[in-house]
Amino acid sequence: MKAIIIGGGIGGLTTAIALQQRGWQYEVYEAAPEYKAVGAGILLGANAMKVYQQLGIADALTSQGGHLEQLYIKDYKGKILQQIDNNLLQQQYGSRSVPIHRATLQAALLGYLDEPVRTGKKCIAVTETQGGIIARFDDGSEAKGDILIAADGIRSAVREHYIGSQGYRYSGQTCWRTTVTMDLPAAERIVTSEVWGGRGNGVRASFMHVGGDQVYFWFTRRFPEGTPLTNEEALALIQRELASFSGHMKEVVARIDASKLIRSDLYDLAPTKNWHKGRVVLLGDAAHATTPNLGQGASQAIEDAYALADSLSRHSAPEAAFQHYASRRMARAHKIVRISWQLALLTNWQGAIAVAFRNFMVRNMPAGTTKRQLDFLYNIEL
Ligand SMILES: Cc1cc2nc3c(=O)[nH]c(=O)nc-3n(C[C@H](O)[C@H](O)[C@H](O)COP(=O)(O)OP(=O)(O)OC[C@H]3O[C@@H](n4cnc5c(N)ncnc54)[C@H](O)[C@@H]3O)c2cc1C
Repeated sequence: MKAIIIGGGIGGLTTAIALQQRGWQYEVYEAAPEYKAVGAGILLGANAMKVYQQLGIADALTSQGGHLEQLYIKDYKGKILQQIDNNLLQQQYGSRSVPIHRATLQAALLGYLDEPVRTGKKCIAVTETQGGIIARFDDGSEAKGDILIAADGIRSAVREHYIGSQGYRYSGQTCWRTTVTMDLPAAERIVTSEVWGGRGNGVRASFMHVGGDQVYFWFTRRFPEGTPLTNEEALALIQRELASFSGHMKEVVARIDASKLIRSDLYDLAPTKNWHKGRVVLLGDAAHATTPNLGQGASQAIEDAYALADSLSRHSAPEAAFQHYASRRMARAHKIVRISWQLALLTNWQGAIAVAFRNFMVRNMPAGTTKRQLDFLYNIEL
């Protein structure tokens, strides 16, 4: 059996690895003309790392990423609002969350593939034939397979043309990310804090060590969709908004090169139940793009990859396999989209009084509620 995988992002590459290990033939088609080193980091959740353990690549990723002991949510003065003990995750769930440079992750995943990714191949159409599927690309070429896996991201062309969606939702926030080169003190390398601004308005910032001398930084603020801002204006804004933040934040910001800031207006995909049609199935952001407030988008794509390969090994008929995959993944992915969306709204609150009330609620969240959330996110069965 041969799978055509459209999209060579984290979801598509992990799916290729999972299928390869189960003896499938596959071809990965990526629109970008070449792989470039993405200048940002990512936190792979303990759930994603469990999948990578199963695929036998967790140790390699762990050794190339950062080592986190504690993850905090703090207010800008440094008061702890919430805390996740990464060592406890390891003890309780058998895996820990790993911060890693996206370029490192990309290179590592590519290194596990026996078949090179076909780059410069933008899929523009999909046609189902008797017993097969054909993908057509913008250079006039085509690929044939038994099934097609659309891992082409939130703006999935395959989904929009072949299956349809309920549209996108703008969370009201814009994010800027980058990595900086710096030698963080040892005590700062093993912790990360998501720091919430004093007047709300979506202002949050964080930095984390992602291996070597690389530190990943991100910043969000409430903005109308598509607000025009140059990178230089964005950096000036970041400096202004974070001037009162405690700790090492300002030292990290001082090293930011404006030209290397990556802007993302934060959208999700309105939850859709249509994850497959005929021989075509959606995976990762193409199926359930979420805002990054739980840091789970890629982790969910990684869970999808494993589940889909597993479902395909249990059911020879594509539709039956896709139904099995959707039935085990949809409720969980949609719940993550929903919680993450609610978090975006919560951090968009404005004004000192509203923010003080919100922070009080977050700080005093019952231990049982926090434990249930951690169980839900990280206690996964594969
Ligand atoms: C600011 C921000 C921070 C985030 N932080 C985290 C985090 O810490 N942890 C986490 O788990 N997630 C995080 N995420 C989410 C994560 O980045 C995504 O969920 C993840 O990248 C989805 O992977 P994917 O492979 O499904 O899609 P993508 O990464 O979007 O990959 C899709 C690929 O398909 C290609 N493509 C698109 N169209 C076509 C086409 N027509 N033909 C061929 N190829 C095509 C694209 O070029 C791309 O390479 C964050 C997201 C944002 C915006």
